[in-house]
Amino acid sequence: MRPEVLNPLFVETDALEGVGPKLRKPLEKLGLTRLRDIAYHLPERFVTRRPVENLDEAGEGEQIVIALTPTEHRAARNNRGPYRVLAQDAVGNICALTYFGRASFTAKKLLPVGEKRWVSGRLDRYGDMLQIVHPDHVEKDSGESLARLNEPVYSLSEGLTQPRVAGLVEQALARLPQLPEWIEPTQFEKAGWPAWRDALHLAHKGEHAAARDRLAYDELLANSLALMLVRADNRRRRGQPLQGDGHLRDKLDLRFPLTGAQKRSIGEIEGDLAQEAPMLRLLQGDVGAGKTVVALEAMLIANEAGKQAALLAPTEILARQHFETLRSMAASTGVEVALLTGRDKGKARESILMGLLDGSIDIVVGTHAIFQDSVAYKDLALVVIDEQHRFGVAQRLQLASKGRATPHTLAMTATPIPRTLTLAQYGEMDVSKLDEMPPGRQPIDTVVVSQDRLEDVIAGVSRHIGSGQQAYWVCPMVRESEVDDIAAAEARYAQLNERFGNDVVLVHGQQRPEEKDAAMERFASGEAKLLVATTVIEVGVDVPAATLMVIEQAERFGLAQLHQLRGRVGRGSEKSVCLLLRGGALSETGRKRLALMRETQDGFRIAEEDLELRGGGELLGTRQSGDTPFRVANLEQITRLLPAAHDDARLLMERDGGLSSERGAAARILLYLFERDWGVQLLRGG
Ligand code: ADP
Ligand code: MG
Repeated sequence: MRPEVLNPLFVETDALEGVGPKLRKPLEKLGLTRLRDIAYHLPERFVTRRPVENLDEAGEGEQIVIALTPTEHRAARNNRGPYRVLAQDAVGNICALTYFGRASFTAKKLLPVGEKRWVSGRLDRYGDMLQIVHPDHVEKDSGESLARLNEPVYSLSEGLTQPRVAGLVEQALARLPQLPEWIEPTQFEKAGWPAWRDALHLAHKGEHAAARDRLAYDELLANSLALMLVRADNRRRRGQPLQGDGHLRDKLDLRFPLTGAQKRSIGEIEGDLAQEAPMLRLLQGDVGAGKTVVALEAMLIANEAGKQAALLAPTEILARQHFETLRSMAASTGVEVALLTGRDKGKARESILMGLLDGSIDIVVGTHAIFQDSVAYKDLALVVIDEQHRFGVAQRLQLASKGRATPHTLAMTATPIPRTLTLAQYGEMDVSKLDEMPPGRQPIDTVVVSQDRLEDVIAGVSRHIGSGQQAYWVCPMVRESEVDDIAAAEARYAQLNERFGNDVVLVHGQQRPEEKDAAMERFASGEAKLLVATTVIEVGVDVPAATLMVIEQAERFGLAQLHQLRGRVGRGSEKSVCLLLRGGALSETGRKRLALMRETQDGFRIAEEDLELRGGGELLGTRQSGDTPFRVANLEQITRLLPAAHDDARLLMERDGGLSSERGAAARILLYLFERDWGVQLLRGG
């Protein structure tokens, strides 16, 4: 149960004055649904304005506050033209106050001819005329204007304005409760941070680094603490120690020797499985490092001990593919492998459910359907989660409740995360690393090509598939709408289909499952040569014969994503090529990203530099931390503050693992505040 003191923070936004159904939507779009969210909607930056006596004192592009007297209103010459109010400063310089669209109605009211007004905004030049487009404020009173020399700028969505958001923030701040301090006293003293409520106020008022840091630190502390609670809870649980005798693994007939890293990881897993405390281990390995066979060995250990294992995949496509791979790899061992997805209905489903219940199925592969309430296992002892980053910690915990005893968990991820983020995301897990690629891999040639040369690229694809090889074609991702992605993919598919006919297949997220499978199967079997797709192929798809990857508008993808996509090729012994098509207007960061892709194939280096590239571009901590689990802390703050937050959490856990002291109670409040309450729930259980 959430501590009562937090209740005022978790009321819906319409408890605020002025928020009705009309405002709710744009607020929701920004992820702001409760008072808490509004209070934490921190400014992206601040405008700093300078009061000037006359226009000669101001530079072009400068944010100023100035007293002006309107002399003339000039209506728009046509529908689309601006509405201009000419105004004069104290020494007779003329400046236009320019309004577009509906804003002109307000201009008429705000700026009567002959009456002095205080205007704030950015001074620009239009032809030989000075102008301020859409002044931020127009006021009668100099006092009010001068109070606005420093103002927050919030991220907005359509239907919101700066003053609107500022007003809501002000209301939210006024309702903040007083909360006890949860930060360790020495740490708090040393950092010289403001208290929680003050920090929120200050963070909205100006560029207050200490306040921003404190708020970020809170979030990091909450996360570390929650992960540690998970870990502590796990230690207290009783699992089933699994001792394999090797009789199944001995029968395994792999086409290749395991790499040293694979052997080491399997050894670490074997050691964990033999313990009574359930394993919580992350297997981290770049794309193509060979995680699947490690998972199989782990599952066979469970089978050797007479228990069942389950592998959870994030998508249907991946589940199906894992099923095929595992079934064929494990064929020589005689274990029974089954596939269960949300799509299975009726008799087929019944028979799988029966097999899981009576123990005739040893290994089940599937999507989250394998953990629905209706699915019961005879004796599930190991859960493998592929592409872990797609699932949150909360889901991980839910899975752990499925077995009779708590099953062992092996999570796998190919997302190369920088070291600091590993701690933040997987702090509760032990880590095994596949830091060695299987031998014989050829480096992928990565080339950046302008999108203008599409025809040449298509000709290249034509030669490629003409010589009997296969290729992927990834269509750009439009973040706002999956529908647009698909439209783009369909258009490209139509074009390529015209040229290559039956050799092309299309895969995207909105297809009927049978359609998707059929397309994937035609490609995997080599019947189709070119697979056009949206990013659904990002994770895990394994077709070693595909040796060309084309990515359209590559600058729109994040580095980690590009790396994942490129990882679909270079899986066989043939030389592979990756063509990154770039659009016309490339930002500096975009250019650097593509250059880095060309330069290296090392996922960890890409991840580290990604962190740097993104970290460097941010002035204040805005919440676009992307693939981190944080909304307040930005990447730079994570790197700088996480170690201390982690230590702080550990210290608290050592002194007061049950969070029952006074500070422990404060920490519980913190966990609820950042909705890491799954950590607290474990406390009650244990
Ligand atoms: P990922 O780590 O991305 O899941 P996979 O498990 O899909 O990688 O393995 C990628 C490819 O490498 C597969 O075709 C697999 O059969 C092959 N592979 C795995 N381990 C080895 C090895 N030790 N030697 C050679 N090939 C291997
Ligand atoms: Mg994989």
